[in-house]
Amino acid sequence: MTRIAVIDDDSCKPKKCNYECISVCPINKSKKGVAIEADTSSRGKPVIYEDVCIGCGLCIKVCPFEAISIVNLPEELEEESVHRYGVNGFKLYGLPIPKAGQVVGILGKNGTGKTTAIKILAGELKPNLGILDKEVSYDEIIRRFRGSELQTYFQKIANKKIRAAHKIQYIDLVPRHIKGDVKTLLQKADERGVALELGKQLGLDKIFDRDVRNLSGGELQKLLIAATLSKDADIYIFDEPSSYLDVKERINISKLIMNEAKRNKYFMIVEHDLAVLDYLSDYIHIIYGDPGVYGIVSKPYGVRVGINNYLDGYLPSENMRIRKDPIQFRKLASESITNTNSKTYKYLEWDNVNIVRGSFKLDVEAGYVTNGEVVGVVGPNAIGKTTFIKFLAGELKPENGNIIAYRELKISYKPQYIGPEMFPEGLRVEDVLKLANPEAIIPNSWLYLELIQKLNLNRMFDREARSLSGGEMQKLAIAATLSSNADLYLLDEPSAHLDVEERLAIGKIIRRLTEIRKVTAFVAEHDIIILDFISDRIIVFNGEPGMHGHANTPKETKKAMNELLSELKITIRRDAESGRPRINKEGSYLDRLQKTKEEYYAT
Ligand code: ADP
Ligand code: ADP
Ligand code: SF4
Ligand code: SF4
Repeated sequence: MTRIAVIDDDSCKPKKCNYECISVCPINKSKKGVAIEADTSSRGKPVIYEDVCIGCGLCIKVCPFEAISIVNLPEELEEESVHRYGVNGFKLYGLPIPKAGQVVGILGKNGTGKTTAIKILAGELKPNLGILDKEVSYDEIIRRFRGSELQTYFQKIANKKIRAAHKIQYIDLVPRHIKGDVKTLLQKADERGVALELGKQLGLDKIFDRDVRNLSGGELQKLLIAATLSKDADIYIFDEPSSYLDVKERINISKLIMNEAKRNKYFMIVEHDLAVLDYLSDYIHIIYGDPGVYGIVSKPYGVRVGINNYLDGYLPSENMRIRKDPIQFRKLASESITNTNSKTYKYLEWDNVNIVRGSFKLDVEAGYVTNGEVVGVVGPNAIGKTTFIKFLAGELKPENGNIIAYRELKISYKPQYIGPEMFPEGLRVEDVLKLANPEAIIPNSWLYLELIQKLNLNRMFDREARSLSGGEMQKLAIAATLSSNADLYLLDEPSAHLDVEERLAIGKIIRRLTEIRKVTAFVAEHDIIILDFISDRIIVFNGEPGMHGHANTPKETKKAMNELLSELKITIRRDAESGRPRINKEGSYLDRLQKTKEEYYAT
């Protein structure tokens, strides 16, 4: 066994606890050695000596901020250590293997080292092989990977023969660093004379003269994807390319990337939308471990088997269980998991409604929802989904039409974009959750175990809400929205920035809350697997984005998905083993067969 001890820099606050961890350590007390002491360097945090520490866990128990993690890992793993972020920092074992002409996907929880791994493969981060007391040379790195495909890859990196084009994960900050309109920016990025054509294929030509500061999240994402693909690089890396894109756009960027991969270059994708990852990748690597503590990269798996193994929670090639329970999908979307014995009644009803916002017009077909029901909301970007949700939240007055609730409904609403301004100054994560529901911060309460812990929010209780990263803020907003005792939950794109397990955890909570409390939730979502997982019925939006939208009445999931997919000309089958929806490749046997039968969504 080898032991690694990690101290989370953001959580550790020695001034508040007066180094309680150090004072309880039995090794220190025995005076036989020092296992933990205050760092004399500028960090001013404790440092744990892994070779002296006996792993008793007392320091972990006493730390008020859950800042310490100590894990025992198999000794052999040390040979695979690739990078460590300093003493008591996160440690990465193994690397994904790029394959020329193939799209290699990376799947894993947030905080397990996906970005670290791709930065290393892009040549942006020189791996230190876990060695912290001296500079590691490229010769040593190449030697470490001797006999594997990574040996030649690192030889190329060492000789500066690898040029990387990297679409980063958090695109929101990009407009602060670049200036100009869409066309000029594409032309500037262009090294292969293809940028404008790629932009056109993603529909950017309609906004060529729009300034980058005025782009929506989806438009910015498409601009950056086209710019990245237009580089003359050896490896193309896409970190979460589907964020902010609607279903059709997700398929479009996937097709574009798959087509470009034919150029025999290396392509790597980090993606949490399982249907997109499945559609796009030839192989996948699973990264597992403990978020923020360590991550281990699996061997490559074929995409279907790899995703199924991941869902199963067991990796056969490494004989490793990565999760206690498998993730199961309902085989039939129409199979409601609500308790059919209990009485349902109309909970909320609306007439035909017209809403005008500037030059955009939305008409909504009359409809209703029953108690205990989850209604999915899906459609292209800029078609009026947020407008509809704001109308339900009572934030927008329609031109005509009305909403009828059978009693006064308390609403809990998570808007699409979450920024620091949403949280009052000075409030910590714990305060925000406590305000939403005091039960949420009580360890062992249902909300704490199923929501707060699953989203890893307990590890950041003491951080100021406004100081969180985009993804962390999103999780906090969702947790606060779902913790509130409400009658109507409105969630606008809850999946953005969340990993697969977090998405499913939220999906489960939404279902449980609505079922148990006999309330209703509306969830706008572009991840079709999540949409399928949570929805009893779905409202499909269509029309002309930015001009006018039409919201159909809620329909049973299968029917609604069929309607959506037939418009998009996409067919979906179900994986025989896992029951998860899979997108058929265009023109494949199943695609043609299902289209002939007009069964766009097979259940
Ligand atoms: P993922 O992409 O899977 O979310 P990352 O590779 O971004 O994971 O980060 C893995 C862990 O490494 C993070 O939880 C963080 O604790 C740590 N980490 C990332 N970057 C740094 C850094 N520059 N310095 C110290 N620790 C870092
Ligand atoms: P979705 O949620 O489907 O992406 P939205 O409801 O956010 O769509 O927006 C629909 C359209 O309405 C967009 O073209 C958007 O630019 C426009 N819109 C939204 N809010 C306003 C507003 N306050 N004034 C004018 N137009 C708006
Ligand atoms: Fe000391 Fe290690 Fe025990 Fe912590 S786990 S108290 S550092 S011996
Ligand atoms: Fe205090 Fe915990 Fe940091 Fe130790 S690890 S100094 S107990 S906050």
